[in-house]
Amino acid sequence: MAFTVAIDGPAAAGKGTISRAVAQRFGFSHLDTGLLYRAVGAKVADGADPVAACDLSASDLARDDLRSLAAGQAASEVAVMAPVRAALVAFQRRFADAPEGAVLDGRDIGTVICPDAPVKLFVTASPEVRADRRWREVGGDLEDVLAEVRARDARDMGRKDAPLRPADDAHILDTSDMSIEEAVAYACALVASVRV
Ligand code: C5P
Repeated sequence: MAFTVAIDGPAAAGKGTISRAVAQRFGFSHLDTGLLYRAVGAKVADGADPVAACDLSASDLARDDLRSLAAGQAASEVAVMAPVRAALVAFQRRFADAPEGAVLDGRDIGTVICPDAPVKLFVTASPEVRADRRWREVGGDLEDVLAEVRARDARDMGRKDAPLRPADDAHILDTSDMSIEEAVAYACALVASVRV
């Protein structure tokens, strides 16, 4: 049976870095599910119909404007739409079935996409720490970045469909006072203990 690692959490908590490191260490495939929502959000911002925009091509996912703050907001705006979420489920579940094992990171992997995943990790950090990390990547005004982080948290946690929350059986990892090496070591030890 496929082995799936579900890693969820708010923006800039460190889940992307942890996911890539776990995938590399164990030879799993990795899917950054936020990129799917970012690509859909960008197409909708360009005028596409939201459901039609979910038919994603490789070039949609390779756009160089998907990492901006604006693309993050656009992603969280389309992510509240139930038909958009439904249109992206099958692709994510197929990916999770990769025979070599898979790591998926996002907001609803442990709760909705892969509720039976043997390893679930919820990676979080304070809004201030996450805003500081994001600001170091994107620059600009730190207060604006903090406001963006808070707005996206509120939208992701407050939506009706698949809100951001830890699965009941998720391990919570607060990275506010951790180095990335410590966080990766925790996640790898957790996967190794379950995978035997
Ligand atoms: O992880 P990232 O910051 O790239 O995600 C962008 C946005 O996409 C999130 O703020 C969230 O609204 C949405 N998203 C989601 N479900 C996922 C992954 C991302 O709703 N599994």
